[in-house]
This record gives sequence, C-alpha cells and structure tokens, in this order.
Amino acid sequence: MPRTTTGLYPSDRNWELEGKGQPHTGVLIGGPDARAKQIEYSILAVLQVGGAVAAIWWMFTQPTGWVEWSAFISGYLIINYGLSCGFHRYFTHRSFETSTWMRYLIGICGQMACQGSVKKWAADHRRHHAFSDEVGDIHSPHIDGHGRKMGPVKGF
Ligand SMILES: [Zn+2]
Repeated sequence: MPRTTTGLYPSDRNWELEGKGQPHTGVLIGGPDARAKQIEYSILAVLQVGGAVAAIWWMFTQPTGWVEWSAFISGYLIINYGLSCGFHRYFTHRSFETSTWMRYLIGICGQMACQGSVKKWAADHRRHHAFSDEVGDIHSPHIDGHGRKMGPVKGF
C-alpha cells in the first residue's frame, strides 16, 4: 500500500537520520499542514484557558446567583458527558451501540467543548492511542509535532 499521507519535509529529516525509521503513515511531521494544526490547537487552548480565567474574574467581580452557578454546573456535566462518553467512548472507540437520536445528542454535547469536529477529535485520539508518546501522537506531553523532546514545557 502506498504511503500517501505522510508529510516529511527536508528540515525534519533528523527523524530518519537518527535511525528512528520512517514515520508512520498518516502522520504529519512539520510542514504547512502540521503548522496549521498547531495554530488551530493553540487558538483552542488560548480560548479555553482564557474562558476559565474570565470566569474566575467574573466570579469575584460580579454578583453571582443560582442562574450562573446552575449554568456552570450543568454545562460542566453536559460537556464532559459529551466528551468522555460521546467523543471518546462512542465516536472514537465504539465502546457501545446506541440509537441515532442518542448519537446526535452526545455529538452535540461533545461539540459544546469547542475541541473541533467529532471526526477530527476521533481521528486525533485514535492516533494518540496508536502512537503514544512517539511521532504521530498529537497530544503527547513529551514530544512536539516534529518528534523532538519538549524542553521546559514538557508535561504542560
Ligand atoms: Zn481513548
């Protein structure tokens, strides 16, 4: 089967030169597509952390009541259910079977987490399991998108 989706660029040939072999099929190493993905993840991370900081600021500077707290608690439960049960267990791992309307419901709940489309999320997570902490693991805390060990931000 031809290796059609691997994006290997000259500046990233160190992976091969270091004797680590060919990167896995379907893995992007460097280049514009990998850079675009990195930018997308950075924007999502900044929005999520920014939202959390803004919520903490709001909590201490504005009066809060049952509306804000019930919205926070229900949003937390619904979104986490959509991600863990929906995106992770159902769409990525097919751990169970369900009806069409429930599939839509858990998809919508997971989508509220603003972590990209369910297709992208499932593909990234399957790749994460297939290549844990090696090139191709899209959210490894140990290596970057080029397969290099992360420096001071390791684990972040
Ligand atoms: Zn998983």
